[in-house]
Amino acid sequence: MKPNIKNIAVLTSGGDAPGMNACIRAVVRTGIYNGINMFGVLQGYQGLISNNINPMDARSVSNIIHLGGTILKTARCLEFKTDEGMALAYENMKARDIDGLVVIGGDGTFTGAKRFGEKFGIRVMGVPGTIDNDLYGSDFTLGYDTAINTVIEAIDKIRDTADSHDRLFFIEVMGRDSGCIALRSAISSGAEAVLLPEKETSLNELISMLETGASTKKTSSIVIVSEGHKDGGAYEVAKKVKERFNHYDTKVTILGHLQRGGSPSSFDRILGSRLGFAAVNELLKGNTMEMVGLRGNEVKTTSIEEALTRHTFKLESDLLEMTKVLSI
Ligand code: ADP
Repeated sequence: MKPNIKNIAVLTSGGDAPGMNACIRAVVRTGIYNGINMFGVLQGYQGLISNNINPMDARSVSNIIHLGGTILKTARCLEFKTDEGMALAYENMKARDIDGLVVIGGDGTFTGAKRFGEKFGIRVMGVPGTIDNDLYGSDFTLGYDTAINTVIEAIDKIRDTADSHDRLFFIEVMGRDSGCIALRSAISSGAEAVLLPEKETSLNELISMLETGASTKKTSSIVIVSEGHKDGGAYEVAKKVKERFNHYDTKVTILGHLQRGGSPSSFDRILGSRLGFAAVNELLKGNTMEMVGLRGNEVKTTSIEEALTRHTFKLESDLLEMTKVLSI
């Protein structure tokens, strides 16, 4: 039986990601279209605790689909991990009769949502929002595609200078324990090599690849280093390589937080819209404790429990194989 949901709130939590605004817009408008009163919570779970919960109408989300970041702001909130913090959050929701909550964020956000939903019977629906693409249940997470576009734009520029000076560049990209950004960036920028957290690449192997390139008249080389790689970050790897391979002048670039910002790609705008639309529709159907995600270009749900506990190897095997072949 369908529940009688009248009020739904939406929040963004954890790391921000491009496409979150497209998702907020879709959540708010899908709710309003279905006659639901919609609320926006500022600064993630912190806003639930400090009662920063505001009504939203269709115009509250006008002209935001192209914006990076999140208009609802985000925060890391330690108080929400305590029983007292959660109870305060619940009281503030109850005072407005809010019975459904859409959370857009990563695994920490989902862990909080699961505990909250189980403790107080709030209906929760998760949307995977993180540039790292590290959640089970969605082939792509919000912001991942835009982050790759940002990275390759930067690498294209670095390649110009690397090539002009015959240089070897080590470029560190984000992703925590996930090499997804690194792998796709490597393929789409034509990098010579990529070091991933999920895959062992020995220093010998890397140096031999670079030597082959130098001996076949490559004038510059780019190595992408995922921030979670076991040999340390780009500075550490560059230092070790330089001790044994000094064919080129060696430079290091850490791309850092610029990878988090920027106007979302068309892919992330559409993904945010699809997942936001689906999240509200799933709540209205009576579903709860689930995450909406994209699998094989179809929107599918996965239980939050499964999304949190089933860690899968997400690197695309054909791309992995291509890194060796296409960089000769
Ligand atoms: P992300 O969602 O990007 O993984 P975090 O790990 O920082 O980011 O989690 C976001 C927020 O989710 C935290 O600041 C906290 O408010 C909430 N959270 C994380 N873990 C828990 C938990 N075990 N119980 C309750 N809330 C949690």
